[in-house]
Amino acid sequence: MKIYDVIIIGGGLAGLTSAIDLSSSGFEVLLIEKDEYPKHKVCGEYVSNEVLPYFNRLGIDINQTKADQINRLTLSNRNGETVNVGLPLGGFGMSRYALDHLLYEKAKSNGVQFKFETVTGVEFENEQFCITTNQQNYYSELAIGSFGKRSTLDKKLGRYFINKKTPWIGIKAHYQSDDFPNGEVQLHNFEGGYCGLSKTETGAVNFCYLAHYDSFKKEGSVENFNQHILTKNPKLKSFLKNSEMLFDKHLAISQVSFQNKNAVENHMLMAGDSAGLIHPLCGNGMAMAIHSAKLLSEEIKKYKTFKSRNQLEENYTAIWEQTFRKRLIFGSAFQKILLQPKLTNLGMSLVSKSPFLIKKMIQQTHGKPIS
Ligand SMILES: Cc1cc2nc3c(=O)[nH]c(=O)nc-3n(C[C@H](O)[C@H](O)[C@H](O)COP(=O)(O)OP(=O)(O)OC[C@H]3O[C@@H](n4cnc5c(N)ncnc54)[C@H](O)[C@@H]3O)c2cc1C
Repeated sequence: MKIYDVIIIGGGLAGLTSAIDLSSSGFEVLLIEKDEYPKHKVCGEYVSNEVLPYFNRLGIDINQTKADQINRLTLSNRNGETVNVGLPLGGFGMSRYALDHLLYEKAKSNGVQFKFETVTGVEFENEQFCITTNQQNYYSELAIGSFGKRSTLDKKLGRYFINKKTPWIGIKAHYQSDDFPNGEVQLHNFEGGYCGLSKTETGAVNFCYLAHYDSFKKEGSVENFNQHILTKNPKLKSFLKNSEMLFDKHLAISQVSFQNKNAVENHMLMAGDSAGLIHPLCGNGMAMAIHSAKLLSEEIKKYKTFKSRNQLEENYTAIWEQTFRKRLIFGSAFQKILLQPKLTNLGMSLVSKSPFLIKKMIQQTHGKPIS
């Protein structure tokens, strides 16, 4: 029976980054992902530059792609009044289609093994994991859970947040727009949510929003919602009028949960959204996912010498809490303000008088370069 050092469940950013990092240090890694690459995902596709030093160390070169270099943020309220500020650290606009594929190719070249199967169960017995997929069983000493915001696996594992209804829905598509500026990410407020716009490596604009389900369900369809709710904001109205959708239809995900989760669950080490998700309005989930993969890989490398599972789990939980908990708390408070029209308007007028304020808020909910 083959026993891997590490099996990673879910090959999004957290899973792929952990796979690259651990395989670079000689671990034998199997990554099980349910979908083949490349593939579009619901995501704002603005990646904070905080990931660049770590990516460079892992040999992932974003400069060789045509990702849009972003250094400005435009915010608009429901009336379309805007504020434009420089982003202290900046970021890049790249589709998940291209980014996940780039990491997949790097992981493969590092010797990571891939299985495109759906994990249906995880058992931990006699210091060993048995991971069951729709096709067979795989065995490992360590297991990483990086299966995203919400998976059928969460239900199987009995994670407590999974039975709580979460009223958020995410929608995304790429658009061709001739007058969308380079180097800018835009966030536009509408009733019950926010829509992000930024260019990707193909020049297409990623259009992605998160809406409260109560406001969404009254309209019955994405098309109606776009037409009746989003276009109340003149900035979104103008964008939708002057651009052309490049997808056959919008991608959608529902039940996006921002509830607390555990960094370790039945000895499985959680990374990325499986460990905790920040509201995309107020933080960079992708950078957090990549950062958590780095923290976890470091703890696993230490475990190779001291070989105490308890110590590994305690250390990882402590470092995860220390690195991300404060950010999640600020993010949640910031989100509440941004979704209240009166507070948003007040905030916008304060920010337009003092862009320093928005920079301070950004610093509270975003990380520093991952060195
Ligand atoms: C609407 C919206 C907009 C966002 N915008 C931004 C943004 O602009 N910038 C930003 O930084 N962050 C943004 N985020 C957050 C960001 O998308 C996530 O934080 C990030 O994708 C987390 O990566 P991950 O690797 O944890 O999960 P994912 O990228 O979701 O990867 C999980 C993987 O696990 C696989 N999987 C799931 N279940 C199984 C199973 N049972 N077996 C095998 N494989 C499985 C999935 O197929 C998937 O590939 C946004 C989120 C939302 C909802």
